[in-house]
Amino acid sequence: MRADLYEELILDHYRQPRNRGPLPDANAQAEGYNPLCGDQVRVCVRLRGDVIEQVAFEGQGCAISTASASLMTESVRGKTLADARALCERFHLLLTAGPAAVPLAELGKLAAFASVWRYPARVKCATLAWHALEAALRGTDRTASTP
Ligand code: ZN
Repeated sequence: MRADLYEELILDHYRQPRNRGPLPDANAQAEGYNPLCGDQVRVCVRLRGDVIEQVAFEGQGCAISTASASLMTESVRGKTLADARALCERFHLLLTAGPAAVPLAELGKLAAFASVWRYPARVKCATLAWHALEAALRGTDRTASTP
């Protein structure tokens, strides 16, 4: 994809976020706040076994943070916890090490964020919803684990 198409995708998800709203039957959730930019997000997940059956987000933020949250919900819905965590890791790697570190084909639409690593101030915007997702999934682990 060309760079301007990436930009189109981000603007599209900013203007019409997918899966934005409450998730009343969520069984895992976490919030994130990025004080550098003012982005706020709450990620709610409904897990069935170890599969993310549904995921939604609420909050206010800049274009990058909102589009990232929207694309995150599309990317991890239907995935197992292990697959979702692996995707989180690849996304973080893309944003910290750049597109040379991750095969973009593995990222699908998330490749739209391939240029964000050049702008360190925006990396926290892009990763905010993903950190919240990871926190929500960790919370589930604690509940589910037996000593
Ligand atoms: Zn932001």
